[in-house]
Amino acid sequence: MSAPNIDTIVSLAKRRGFVYPSSEIYGGLGSAWDYGPLGAELCVNVRAAWWRWMVYERDDIEGLDSSIILNRLVWKYSGHEDTFSDPLVDCRECQSRFRADKLREQYRQSKAKAGEYILVMGWRFLERGELKCPNCGKANWTGVRPFNLMFRTHVGATAEDDADALVYLRPETAQGIFINFLNVLNTSRRKLPFGVAQIGKSFRNEVTPGNFIFRTREFEQMEMEYFVRPGEDEQAHQEWIDACRQWFLDIGISAGNLRLYEQPKEELAHYAKRTVDIQYRFFPEREDEERHWDELMGIANRTDFDLKTHSKKPEDAEGKRLNPDSTEDLSYFDEQTKQRFYPYVIEPAAGVNRTVLALLMDAYSEKTNDKGETRVILKLHHSIAPIKVAVLPLAKNKPEIVGMAKAIKRSLQPIMRAVYDDTGGIGKLYARQDEVGTPFCVTVDHQSLEDEAVTVRDRDTWAQERIKVANLATYLLQRFADN
Ligand code: ATP
Repeated sequence: MSAPNIDTIVSLAKRRGFVYPSSEIYGGLGSAWDYGPLGAELCVNVRAAWWRWMVYERDDIEGLDSSIILNRLVWKYSGHEDTFSDPLVDCRECQSRFRADKLREQYRQSKAKAGEYILVMGWRFLERGELKCPNCGKANWTGVRPFNLMFRTHVGATAEDDADALVYLRPETAQGIFINFLNVLNTSRRKLPFGVAQIGKSFRNEVTPGNFIFRTREFEQMEMEYFVRPGEDEQAHQEWIDACRQWFLDIGISAGNLRLYEQPKEELAHYAKRTVDIQYRFFPEREDEERHWDELMGIANRTDFDLKTHSKKPEDAEGKRLNPDSTEDLSYFDEQTKQRFYPYVIEPAAGVNRTVLALLMDAYSEKTNDKGETRVILKLHHSIAPIKVAVLPLAKNKPEIVGMAKAIKRSLQPIMRAVYDDTGGIGKLYARQDEVGTPFCVTVDHQSLEDEAVTVRDRDTWAQERIKVANLATYLLQRFADN
């Protein structure tokens, strides 16, 4: 089972301290969310799992943490100043605003459903009123215009309109990696193929944010740029697609809720040779099966566009430098072939927040106890669960039991996230931990004082086992390893 819709997760997230609407005491700020105690922990675990898999468990990846605010020229030559925009259209009747490319996809799907498989280019379908406004049902559209998604700000104590002081908040982490290609290459003494990974915040002034943490204006990305020899790019790309899908399975997402989506040629970014998205079933409640799915991560073959565009050497047909501002040439000298070239780049790019949403949706399940009460159980993978173990005293008015429970919690804390809780009866405490995905509850009872053993309760099966306190840490670590 997984969550029937995102709304189920929104209320669980707020109730249990995963995610709160941001700035709520001042009326909120559209599509901004704050991560509470459990949500912050969940994000830490997602980042750690990705970093461990991407950087530590491989021998060919380095890590990086570049600035959020970069020289404006980075965004000029990356193409973002000119092309990082969404096509906007308004309904003249109800003033609703839409992304025209999303409307085009809806139009194409509705045609396909009617048995008409067509390639829809441009915006004629809107001009001719062939698609009705999803909000009011009329077909009276404004023209389509581009809207740049980069947030602008100014550095230093300069005037608001000083063009020299204009900078952007980065809309992706990738460019920070490209501009550091030579730094990493020279300091790490790497040879191709190798990659550079980065996790960090990105900012996009999205036209239509929404669906909880699925699309927000401030979000976090986990990106890796894998540099390869031209000609080795297609195979490396396929290997990364397979590896990334496997990673989502390894952190507990079910195969049935994942699918690969090959971006059609007309959807590809101008620099991309091939892009495959890993999609998750974020919208299972939608009537149309095709609209259940949306992007969780993208894996692009970006060719040699990035390193070339930031290099000083490439010239146009008339011998004019394409980038007169760069002071470096980001090419690579291959010792084996004695050739110099610009490496191709394979980019797996995922969002921390969308991964958190997919994990919460996928882990959601309900179970009825013997009293007929329905309980929520969040069956998160053990490596992702915000709390690994909750230590609970059976009687909170018995100082010896409380003391023993607190001591067990303290002894476990250096090796796993453990909490102590005595704020309710044992049934209630179990239910609370099930709802936030804690894999194990450890209960200290009267008997524990005599036999130095505790009851370990499994979140998913509700099975209980008696374990000696001296063996508890080893037992739990083994159970985590088996997960
Ligand atoms: P979309 O088509 O959904 O706008 P994108 O193709 O522009 O996404 P990329 O630029 O490929 O996204 O970014 C990589 C990943 O970053 C996405 O797969 C997603 O997980 C995450 N991401 C991108 N934009 C947002 C956003 N506004 N809010 C939350 N996560 C995002």
